[in-house]
Amino acid sequence: MNVTVALPVAASRKDDFPGLAGNWAYLDTAATAQKPQVVIDAIAKAYGPDYATVHRGVYERSATMTLRFEEARESVARFIGAASASEIVFVRGATEGINLVAQSWGQRLVAGDRILLSALEHHSNIVPWQLLRDRTGIEIDVAPLTVDGRIDVDALEALLTPRTKLVSIAHVSNVLGSVADVARISRAAHAAGALVLVDGCQAAARIVIDVQALGADFYVFSGHKLYGPTGIGVLWGRADLLDSMPPWQGGGAMIETVSFEKTTYAPPPQRFEAGTPHITGVMGLAAAIDYVQAIGIEAISAHEATLVKAARAALSRINSVTLFGPDDSAGILSFAIEGVHPHDIGTILDESGVAIRAGHHCAQPLMNVLGVPATARASFGVYNDLDDVARLAAGVERVTRIFGTGSK
Ligand code: PMP
Repeated sequence: MNVTVALPVAASRKDDFPGLAGNWAYLDTAATAQKPQVVIDAIAKAYGPDYATVHRGVYERSATMTLRFEEARESVARFIGAASASEIVFVRGATEGINLVAQSWGQRLVAGDRILLSALEHHSNIVPWQLLRDRTGIEIDVAPLTVDGRIDVDALEALLTPRTKLVSIAHVSNVLGSVADVARISRAAHAAGALVLVDGCQAAARIVIDVQALGADFYVFSGHKLYGPTGIGVLWGRADLLDSMPPWQGGGAMIETVSFEKTTYAPPPQRFEAGTPHITGVMGLAAAIDYVQAIGIEAISAHEATLVKAARAALSRINSVTLFGPDDSAGILSFAIEGVHPHDIGTILDESGVAIRAGHHCAQPLMNVLGVPATARASFGVYNDLDDVARLAAGVERVTRIFGTGSK
């Protein structure tokens, strides 16, 4: 391995992450990212000296917390190029964001309407639509993939019909790392009269997001994959769309007036944020966004591209390894070793301190397309370096030695 390759993000970034202490190579960032100390500190501060509720308190501490909470919303809006902070709905994560759209916006669909997904979707962008199908009688279409594992946009376009109301796709595949041509998909969907929801769970920490340039109507992501806390995520929706959508959960904070006869609802985003929000999660998310923006998403993209390229080169030299996904995948590399179950790969790599994920990655339909029950997946983050790639390659070589599949 050529260890003289310069990496766009300094190796010292590793020191920002207490979770990386010890002698291990963490290659499971697509499942969840480690947290920089600044995020942990922001959460501790929000639970400690700054702690108070938001939106309701008449005392200064609460007013300050409310201000910070709403500043965080503005920071998220700037981060993804939203037109206004009122388009940002705080949710538990990408999963909840998609369920919100399915349950609220989905109420306008009727039997015979169609939703178009792709074959590489995470279960969280499949099952909410199936639940909606069970309630309403809509139909679900599935766009196939190109041989290198991208959404086949020509085929997707051919599946659009006048009854297609929504195209819902992953920006970056959590298994293959392939990046969807969202701008083109949006143009085609809109020309057919359909809206576009983008699952940006794997994209938000890896590529620059500009929801307006993408032409999307909804965009969701989770804080914990963006070096932020679990339990917090974002649904962005175009203002006019959110405005037209009914509430999905009832309770405090989402109303204008309540009587036993009639209740009126607050405008978005509050309409969709019933109950006391995840205040400390929002503070942690804001700190995470500050952290990645200080480094620059472009630098993180370039950094991960270098690591994926190095990993592809190293693994492709090993006999019996199959690599999935396109060469230019964003930060994620799935692979298989002939005759070895991915769980065995994961277990043996763990013995040498290399943490990868093995399984179907909540994308069982994609496993069927790939013709495997599971894959081994290495995924990279801002803190990984070429030493981690070397350890991955050495670990995979060890697996092939143990199973007797040998090197090229
Ligand atoms: N979509 C994609 C592409 C994902 O990778 C994930 C998480 N693995 C999700 C959705 C769901 O995210 P969460 O579990 O944080 O809601």
